Amino acid sequence: MTTIDETAIGETDWRRAADLIDAAGSLALACHVSPDGDALGAMLGLGLALARTGKKVVASFGDRVFAVPRLLRFLPGQRLLVEPSAYPAEPDLMVTFDASTMERLGLLAPHAGKAGELVVIDHHVSNTRFGTVHLVDPTAASTTMVVEELIRRLGLTVDREVATCLYAGLVTDTGSFRHSITTPAAHAMAGRLLATGLRPEEIARELWDRSPFAYLRVLGTALGRAALEPDAAGGLGLVWTYVSRADRAAEGLPYDEVEGMIDVVRRVDEAEVAVVLKEDDEGGWNVSTRSKGAVDVARACAALGGGGHPRAAGFSSALSVADTLAALRPHLAPEGSRP
Ligand code: AMP
Ligand code: MN
Ligand code: MN
Repeated sequence: MTTIDETAIGETDWRRAADLIDAAGSLALACHVSPDGDALGAMLGLGLALARTGKKVVASFGDRVFAVPRLLRFLPGQRLLVEPSAYPAEPDLMVTFDASTMERLGLLAPHAGKAGELVVIDHHVSNTRFGTVHLVDPTAASTTMVVEELIRRLGLTVDREVATCLYAGLVTDTGSFRHSITTPAAHAMAGRLLATGLRPEEIARELWDRSPFAYLRVLGTALGRAALEPDAAGGLGLVWTYVSRADRAAEGLPYDEVEGMIDVVRRVDEAEVAVVLKEDDEGGWNVSTRSKGAVDVARACAALGGGGHPRAAGFSSALSVADTLAALRPHLAPEGSRP
């Protein structure tokens, strides 16, 4: 973990970001492709808070097939969303959320390149600082933690709807306050958000505790072929499986329903590293990786063109399942001893 002194956002950056946003009559917001609860929650949370002040706000993400994942459709503020084709080509002020690189904006990367000012809000240690102002704090458990502070500095209100968005990002990225990134500040923020009257049990149910029946069938298929490699990851063990588009088509299951499968696979005691390869509707593979702390999967995924956090990262692959794993295995050597 990096120290706060190295990573804290400077006062100048806070002020520049706040001044730009304050002065703007209209803003274009964007989060990373295939948005998770943190990306979409951070974007819609700030978007809603700003829209309430009369500013014109559009928000989007650059997926070729533009659809909010089913489990995030409960988030307030969806009316702010526009398809990438309707996104301003050269926004005066653009703000990005939870994206560590320009590429993570997908179809909206060219828009970011042409923005007059580009405020980058993120918490990835690997953030490439691709904007004109950076609110990047790797000690923040979620991008929504940075957004909450920004909202406070803008003098805006966190009402129950804004709080729902921010809380969704907080619980997504901390794994419901289970991951190592869970700080006192994360719990303190949860306390403030709960005080607005949001319903944690309803948010948790939307995010994790519901699925179509087809999910159980596809999960069964994937778990049935899970493989344990005790010698991989420097002898600390690797567990992996995959979900093909044929598996999903057989049960009529959309791609976004399999995002959470890694949380079942990563529980295996005998493996330091867990991997789930998910084939999208176009035939590309998105690879989710998780570690228990001894292996830096962010570094492993970065070596293959992806990124993420030390214990939760991902990359895309155009190779077969076997070839993708063959490319990944050499990068799974442990960094040091287990914490
Ligand atoms: P996921 O396995 O999709 O839940 O992703 C875990 C973490 O890795 C998140 O922080 C993602 O933002 C990051 N990540 C996933 N895929 C990629 C990618 N292709 N490039 C960069 N970061 C990624
Ligand atoms: Mn994310
Ligand atoms: Mn995040």
